[in-house]
Amino acid sequence: MIEKFLLDRENRVLHQKELLNQFPDKTLVTLKINYPGAYKSNAINNAIIKVIADDILLYYKQETVYNEAYSSLEGAICHFIMEMPYVQTKREMIEIEEGHTLGRCVDIDVYSSAAQSISRTELGIKPRKCFICQNDAHNCSRSQAHSIEQIAQYFDEVYNKHISQTNKCLASIAGRSASWVCCLEAQELPGWPRRTRSSVPAEKDAEREKHS
Ligand SMILES: [Zn+2]
Repeated sequence: MIEKFLLDRENRVLHQKELLNQFPDKTLVTLKINYPGAYKSNAINNAIIKVIADDILLYYKQETVYNEAYSSLEGAICHFIMEMPYVQTKREMIEIEEGHTLGRCVDIDVYSSAAQSISRTELGIKPRKCFICQNDAHNCSRSQAHSIEQIAQYFDEVYNKHISQTNKCLASIAGRSASWVCCLEAQELPGWPRRTRSSVPAEKDAEREKHS
């Protein structure tokens, strides 16, 4: 089981390299579930990945030049190739991890063959907090501070919360005449963080891109 898991992870990394070679001037975004243990696929986890993947595709419709999804022992995996600078993409994916209702349940990693990778800290963003105890997420995961049951319960609660918000949102949209799809500007999505693109210090990012 462990060997198979490592093999799937290795294959994913190889495939990411292939994608970056295929799209050398683009940015790769990889979405996967942030869930411990060997059994990463279950109905809730897969549904969470689908919500975030759909939201990314809707919100970044124009920027996404290629996307794919498959399941593996790492859970459901989605790759998106985006026409967007690396640092900007990294910032915006962190916004989803932090601001989307289901963002803390997923890892959204950003890669580029042209730009040097950059950490949250280098961007002046705090490290991820554990969704259960609010301590440093890295420490909790390393020390396995919380049981799978506890984590599964959090995922279950937050997913149900998201679904009930979505239903409320749909009910309010149904009262209007326009079709639901065109009402679904990403900012109206219940889980989506408010658009903060304008608040990003764009020149600083452009500087970074140049130096990296
Ligand atoms: Zn914790």
